[in-house]
Amino acid sequence: MSPRTNSWLTDRLRALYAQSFADVPVTNTVLVKFGKKSRGRLGSIVLKPKKGYDQKVSVISLNRILKDDCVPEYVIDAVLAHEFVHYVHGFNSPLPQLYRYPHQAGIVDRELKKRGLAALLDKEKLWTKQNFAKLWKTVI
Ligand SMILES: [Zn+2]
Repeated sequence: MSPRTNSWLTDRLRALYAQSFADVPVTNTVLVKFGKKSRGRLGSIVLKPKKGYDQKVSVISLNRILKDDCVPEYVIDAVLAHEFVHYVHGFNSPLPQLYRYPHQAGIVDRELKKRGLAALLDKEKLWTKQNFAKLWKTVI
C-alpha cells in the first residue's frame, strides 16, 4: 500500500476529478493536504492567498486521523469528493456561488449522487458511524 502523503492525496483527488468531476472548470490552483487531527470534521476547504500564486488557492485539508492505514481509502475519497462539491458550488472556489449556504438542505449529498457517487457516500457514512469515535481514541 502506498504511504499516505500529500502527493498521494493529490493523486486521489486527480483520479476522482477525472472520474466524476471532469466537467467542472478548475480556474485556480487546488491543493490538498492532511491537516490537524479533529474530533468533529473529516475535511475542510478554504480559499486563501498563497505566496508564489497570482490567484487565491483553494486548499482542501483532511483530518489527520485519515492518514492511519486502518481507515479505508474509500473514506478518504468520499471526504475529498465532499470537499470538492463545495468547490463546484462556489464555496471557497472562484466559481459562481450556487447556493446560500454550503450545507443547505442536503445539496452536497445530492450533488454526489448526481455524479454517481451514491455508493461511495453510503460506504463512507457507514464506516464513519461504526469506527470514527473508536479511532479518535486510538490514533495520535
Ligand atoms: Zn462540507
